[in-house]
Amino acid sequence: MYRDGARKSIWQEEIKKFSLQADFSQQYDVAIVGGGITGVSTALKLQQSGKKCIILEAANIGFGTTGGTTAHLNDFFDTTFTEAINDFGMDNAKLFAGVGREAISIIENNIQQHNIDCDFERKSAYLFSLDEKQEKQLEDIVDGASKVGHTMTYTSQIPFPIPFNKAVIIPDQAQFHPIKYIKALCEAFVNLGGIIQEECFCESHDEQEDLVILKTSKGDIKAKNVVYATHIPPGVSVLHFTNSPYRSYAIAFSLKDENYPKELGYDLMDPYHYYRTQEINGETLLITGGEDHKTGHEENTGECFSRLENYVRKYFNVETAYYSWSSQYYEPVDGFPYIGKLPGSNGKIYTATGFRGNGMIFGTISSQILTDLIVAGSSKYEEIFSPSRVKPMAGFTDFVKENAVVAFDFIKDKLFKEKITSLADVKEGEGKVVKYEGESFALYKEVTGKVHLVKSTCPHAFCEVRWNNAELSWDCPCHGSRFNVNGKVLTGPTVKDLQRIDPES
Ligand SMILES: Cc1cc2nc3c(=O)[nH]c(=O)nc-3n(C[C@H](O)[C@H](O)[C@H](O)COP(=O)(O)OP(=O)(O)OC[C@H]3O[C@@H](n4cnc5c(N)ncnc54)[C@H](O)[C@@H]3O)c2cc1C
Repeated sequence: MYRDGARKSIWQEEIKKFSLQADFSQQYDVAIVGGGITGVSTALKLQQSGKKCIILEAANIGFGTTGGTTAHLNDFFDTTFTEAINDFGMDNAKLFAGVGREAISIIENNIQQHNIDCDFERKSAYLFSLDEKQEKQLEDIVDGASKVGHTMTYTSQIPFPIPFNKAVIIPDQAQFHPIKYIKALCEAFVNLGGIIQEECFCESHDEQEDLVILKTSKGDIKAKNVVYATHIPPGVSVLHFTNSPYRSYAIAFSLKDENYPKELGYDLMDPYHYYRTQEINGETLLITGGEDHKTGHEENTGECFSRLENYVRKYFNVETAYYSWSSQYYEPVDGFPYIGKLPGSNGKIYTATGFRGNGMIFGTISSQILTDLIVAGSSKYEEIFSPSRVKPMAGFTDFVKENAVVAFDFIKDKLFKEKITSLADVKEGEGKVVKYEGESFALYKEVTGKVHLVKSTCPHAFCEVRWNNAELSWDCPCHGSRFNVNGKVLTGPTVKDLQRIDPES
């Protein structure tokens, strides 16, 4: 498997295995855990700055959300500049507003420096409202943007066949092929002497005075610094209470009329739809996305694809849906990402998470911030993105809300005993949590009738997992840990598999 889901994403064919074997007896300057855009970009920048680095990836490079993204490159974000001004003050909002431009130029520099062919193209973005409520939202977004010096201009036309009532054009955005890009960054990293160790699951760390010992499935690794580019680091962390896992859905369609939009588009629905065009294997496809929900909170994830497809078919002359996939991202409680020293660490362990739907940008800027922190000891973004920040301002309301959801899930999970009392209630091709002889099990029955049975309690914080019928995985609604049908970990923070039961015994 090359991605953390059963469905094939549009980028997946480009995933390549790096079969380098690490020397576990060596000590590294920095061990970077996680081989998505965040880990790979950071590893390359640190290696370029003279550090001896190793990437440790549980599966393969591009296995996580980077293999399931839609790869719009924006300098405006899911957290609007108005929200940033209100919650963090004008100076911090202005700093925040510069992140996108800086990250896109890091990507462009990498492309030039390493001669990377990754379909990078500059694009304009169109943000449009579909009703009066959204129109007010749009005006608010434009107002905040102008205050932080960001250009958004009203326009009477959009290059999408969707009726709208107000729209703005935002110049100098971009798009690319994320896997071609990180694959090339990995090659540049290896050429500089960097080491990539795939199929290496990091279970825990022991932070000592002068080094960190990482306990991995392949043995212990010693490093002066560790970067967790894994969303939430493995194990239990305060970041669970400041980040919530969400799932978003994407479909790539061919059109009958060749009317592929040349630019990037976003409406202002909640959740919003996003659009772009990509050529893949000589075929032009429209990539659309949306239908986001909190992980584990949608009973039939397959229906999210149907809703998205039906919505797109209303406006575009759709021929075929070539690819459909979904993936997981993290919502920070106060709207800003968490990039910097891991809370509780004495200064040797770093993390980067809470990117919302802008992880291509925040993953890339993480490479600069973490390199500055590790090499020079400071970064201009250090305070605003500090993972240890406490923000009792507007974000506080959301903080309470997200924690209330987590707490609710804990309680509800105790009560979440399906009415099903026997294995016979589960149909072929279906997954369910079932009660059997007083215990709860997660049961998946293949279309062939083969049964996969695991204990349904997530070993991380003991919530009950829920079936994700779109990606054939068991997803934990509390902190986003995910498992395949055999209980094997797909996504942390859990470091343990679901306990597997042999249904025949
Ligand atoms: C459908 C969708 C569309 C999106 N579209 C956009 C977009 O258009 N633009 C944008 O900017 N952002 C977008 N995002 C967000 C963006 O894709 C992500 O934020 C970004 O890819 C995260 O990259 P990452 O490197 O931090 O994490 P990942 O790519 O998930 O990489 C983490 C890696 O860590 C590994 N790992 C985890 N735990 C361990 C462990 N214990 N030991 C070893 N390895 C481990 C995993 O296997 C994985 O490969 C989208 C997200 C989704 C879900």
